[in-house]
Amino acid sequence: MFIKEDVYNETQTLTGLDLLHSPQSNRSMAFTTQERRNRKLRGLLPPRVRTIDEQSNNVMANFHHKNSDLEKYVYLMDVQSRNHTLFYYTLIRHLAELMPIIYTPTVGQACQEFSEVYVSGRGLYISEDDRGEIDQVLANWPEKDIRVIVVTDGERILGLGDLGANGMGIPIGKMALYTACAGIHPSYCLPVTIDVGTENPKHLNDPYYIGLQKHRTRGAAYDSLIDEFIMSVQKRFPKALIQFEDFGNQNAFRLLEKYRDQQRVFNDDIQGTAGVTLAGILSALQITGQRLSDQTILFLGAGEAGIGIGSLLASAMTDEGLSIEEARQHCWFVDSTGLVVNSRKDLAHHKLPFAHQHTFVPDLQSAIETLHPTILIGASGIPHTFTQPVVEAMTRLNDRPVIFALSNPTSKSECTAEEAYQWSKGRAIFASGSPFPPVALNDMIYTPGQANNSYIFPGVGLGIVVSGARHVTDAMFTAAARTLAKQVSDADLKEGKIYPPLSDIRAVSVAIAESVARVVYQEGLAETPMPKDLAEYIKSQMYDPK
Ligand code: NAD
Repeated sequence: MFIKEDVYNETQTLTGLDLLHSPQSNRSMAFTTQERRNRKLRGLLPPRVRTIDEQSNNVMANFHHKNSDLEKYVYLMDVQSRNHTLFYYTLIRHLAELMPIIYTPTVGQACQEFSEVYVSGRGLYISEDDRGEIDQVLANWPEKDIRVIVVTDGERILGLGDLGANGMGIPIGKMALYTACAGIHPSYCLPVTIDVGTENPKHLNDPYYIGLQKHRTRGAAYDSLIDEFIMSVQKRFPKALIQFEDFGNQNAFRLLEKYRDQQRVFNDDIQGTAGVTLAGILSALQITGQRLSDQTILFLGAGEAGIGIGSLLASAMTDEGLSIEEARQHCWFVDSTGLVVNSRKDLAHHKLPFAHQHTFVPDLQSAIETLHPTILIGASGIPHTFTQPVVEAMTRLNDRPVIFALSNPTSKSECTAEEAYQWSKGRAIFASGSPFPPVALNDMIYTPGQANNSYIFPGVGLGIVVSGARHVTDAMFTAAARTLAKQVSDADLKEGKIYPPLSDIRAVSVAIAESVARVVYQEGLAETPMPKDLAEYIKSQMYDPK
């Protein structure tokens, strides 16, 4: 399916500079002497022939010479646009080191400065001006068989707000992770940005901004553009999975509800985040020896991430015998106004299932004192909100408080790992959205978890693509989360680590893809017959750059 000869057929005929300028086929100094003769490359490359390991070491040496993370990002993107094989070979071997550059936190800075670092040809821009002609725009993409699309409209990029067309860094980064983490061949991946304008005053006035300099289209005109995009994808790339990414929450929930039962779509901010967080909580409960359905979970932030996590946690609690209504009573939310309760008249639709009967309290600290949560999850995009009194209250109420500060990038995190461990005297089981280094405290080393969506979405996507799932259901994310939690070794749990090492990510993705595909087959949603040995089949389909 993925590894098929015809991916390269077209490029087998390329010679000379055309070959060196084709990132799919270019192997640069790794072309052998014979290949250089056959493909008219003599003289176009320095005489030395390098192995891919030598090339890759060279990339890492150059990478380490760069002075800033943004320079490292630009350098890696340049390698990617010249030589796919070398880029993915290097990325896979140095994933833990390179992921924070090609993804959060550095990708956030790259998006903020995307107009300056922009390089053409790495993703597809669809704008208002393409209305009625989106199919032709899709046809301009050189690959004809697309299996995964990551699409944003740039309205809520990480916790950085509306970056408009500059949000393209996110789909590009996530597609690279699909290939690195789950072996989906780069030719099958399409990053898309739909530009409907921006409300970002800086971009509206910046002469170098790359997107449309107009206010955002909303309402029926917005919906019809998205609809045309979805229908055009279905016609031109019928096997494609569409992953919604970093849409503003007024559109994210609606679009997911509208398309989830008709098309092969999911929203990573809602469902992927929920999967990785559920996995982290299940691991944390292995440490505390408690049951999920005995927890009280308090969220700061009732947006895509928070509500998505709450919904999946509630659904997972029903597996322990609770009704969905009972399960939701275990999840509480504080938003920018205060505790989400049923007497409030200002609540958006997506918050209503969690608006319980309770006296209103105006802030997080009072909510903790009233509700006595066992787990605290930050998904507000507001930094420094898990203050010392907040962490101390959680520690007073719990032997091992579970505290996840998920807001991205690092500058938005509700607290740092150091603060969580220090203020809880080392008792917190802590995870964050962006990576924090280990913390030394009282002769102990504490390693924070990173609730990185990359643990979940590539494996889920692989399982969906392999089985040809017609829709994506919540049960697939629950299965993915349970599988991810099982990948954490007892030794890691003993040290308080709640996610497996990122270096194991490809094996983790295979396990997740297998569990997701099994749900697809059980739910009768598969378009392809189940192979005899599912795990082996999945492995055999993964792209391994050589
Ligand atoms: P969102 O815009 O949908 O939701 C933000 C929520 O925070 C809203 O409910 C808003 O009312 C609330 N909020 C704003 N100010 C607040 C305040 N002062 N106090 C309490 N609540 C406040 O955004 P989202 O998609 O839910 O993302 C939120 C954050 O979570 C972002 O920083 C994002 O980067 C992060 N996130 C992390 C992960 C991860 O770690 N794996 C995944 C997805 C999102």
